[in-house]
Amino acid sequence: MAKARDRPKFGIIVDGRLCKKCGICVYICPKNVFSLSRNLRVNSDLCSGCGQCEIFCPDFAVEVVRISENGDHEGTDSGE
Ligand code: SF4
Ligand code: SF4
Repeated sequence: MAKARDRPKFGIIVDGRLCKKCGICVYICPKNVFSLSRNLRVNSDLCSGCGQCEIFCPDFAVEVVRISENGDHEGTDSGE
């Protein structure tokens, strides 16, 4: 049985040059990773890696990356 710490971890990278703070990711994320007040805030610890934010961000400002046990970014599962 998989333990909680065996679950993959994900990091969210938001390109501040592209983000228009439209709030769509806040609305779409099922895990409430994003919050928006003056700035867009991200709590990656909550992320399940579903990828919805990447799909729905109209400005391609979000990247979801899988984080390995040693903390390196591995990119998302893209089926390759
Ligand atoms: S959906 Fe994209 S542009 Fe809109 S607030 Fe989120 S990251 Fe920024
Ligand atoms: S990948 Fe899914 S859970 Fe993670 S921040 Fe994006 S919408 Fe939320």
